Amino acid sequence: PYSSTTLKSALGEIDRQNPQLNALAGCVPSAASDTLDRPRHGPLQGWPVVVKSNIATGDATTTTCASQALAKYVSPFTATAVELLRQAGAVVAGTANMDEFGMGSKNQSGIYGPAYNPHQIAASRYSPGGSSGGSAAAVASGMCRIALGSDTGGSVRLPAAWCGVVGFKPTYGRISRYGLVSYASSLDAIGILASTVQDVQTAYSIMAVPDSNDMTCMSQSLRDRIDGLTRSRPWIKGQNNNNASQLPLTGIRIGIPQEFWVEELSESTLDAWKRGAQQLEAAGCEIVKVTLPHIPSSLPAYYTLALAEASSNLARYDGVRFGTRSSARAQTAALANASLKYAATRSEGLGPEVQRRILLGTYVMSASACQHYYLPSQRIRRLIQREFNQIFALPNALCNPGITTLSDQQRPHGVDAILFPTSNGTAPPQLDGADKGSQVSSYVNDVMTVPANLAGIPALSVPSGRSHGMPIGLQLAAQYGDDNLLLQIASFLG
Ligand code: GLN
Repeated sequence: PYSSTTLKSALGEIDRQNPQLNALAGCVPSAASDTLDRPRHGPLQGWPVVVKSNIATGDATTTTCASQALAKYVSPFTATAVELLRQAGAVVAGTANMDEFGMGSKNQSGIYGPAYNPHQIAASRYSPGGSSGGSAAAVASGMCRIALGSDTGGSVRLPAAWCGVVGFKPTYGRISRYGLVSYASSLDAIGILASTVQDVQTAYSIMAVPDSNDMTCMSQSLRDRIDGLTRSRPWIKGQNNNNASQLPLTGIRIGIPQEFWVEELSESTLDAWKRGAQQLEAAGCEIVKVTLPHIPSSLPAYYTLALAEASSNLARYDGVRFGTRSSARAQTAALANASLKYAATRSEGLGPEVQRRILLGTYVMSASACQHYYLPSQRIRRLIQREFNQIFALPNALCNPGITTLSDQQRPHGVDAILFPTSNGTAPPQLDGADKGSQVSSYVNDVMTVPANLAGIPALSVPSGRSHGMPIGLQLAAQYGDDNLLLQIASFLG
């Protein structure tokens, strides 16, 4: 329902809270207030939306990726996802802070400086998570109704968990990436953050459509094939007879992946996990143990593949095709040599973490290192995809039936979704001085979120209680294309 006060209150919260939280990168309140009086129609009429700074908003707003290299960049076109939200009546209330080019888990590496978690204990200030930390903090503090983020290895789900909101990464290719600045193209997905599963669902249904501007966006025929597979699930006992007295999720099987059940799990994380399983059981689900043996290898595989792709994607910020050119002095010094000119531009424009990743990514793809790092990581990715196909009852619409997915006889033993934590523990303190903590320890935050990106499957984080006042997130993931079932199950958690 249209509510101008929702937009007004969001703009009020931006004024009131953004100075402390630093969640927004650039506010466009005047643009937003202009639209207050503009008659709009559609299911998202008047919804204030915050968009991560790596998604093109058009409207003369910069799309900076929180990088010096793109500090003044205004995209000549608008991202399909943003366009669809606008057509449905939503209003862009601001663009969000983030880690530079989406590289990070704490929202501390960009040109806007650290963003902060709206949940605070006494004087301590915490990270909102990254890289879509600004988007999550904006939702959690009421600066918008929904926010867009990007999720290459967990950047929507981790901040959602730490800020106590819902964060959804749909199946790879469900939402067009047109207008999303690439980090690792085979893993990147636009994701949605909101306070409720229902708001996520509403926004998702508007953005999940084919787009000829993105060749990796699912075609209508693939969407239809998936609909055909998900509509009839003869192996689910109970779902198909319309018995009104039966529990809403009767017949749904939820897997608990053993590999995430590690000694290091904090007690509060474990408690939330158990409570989540009980909630689903109470809604009619059957809970079973499952095993995904290659999960422990997903983090090194991710950090090899993501960085390899990033080194190639970020080559365009050379000051010629994209990016602010280096200062005049460096240009003069480098006049005689084009590659020095590029180097000066890239050294000035890209931050230390981005440079580190470009170097690592270039190295793992070099002739001598490729066989030791890049190719084995591709193999691990395939193994992980296969393991998911062997636990989910629903066939993978991209695979040949019976070969890499379960056979009809095995299907009743498969699961419909898996339940596990989004991260171990709650948000860490936000360190904003020189000491930003070790990068490797920061990479470890992603261990629970990267498998879904490697497999291209949908995954979402829902808030599930708190520990010492700070929110905890629980994660659900499902078979490729099974986004709607995932959202349906998620509405019973929390
Ligand atoms: N933290 C992960 C990384 O730094 C994930 C980032 C993301 O999903 N954009 O690569």
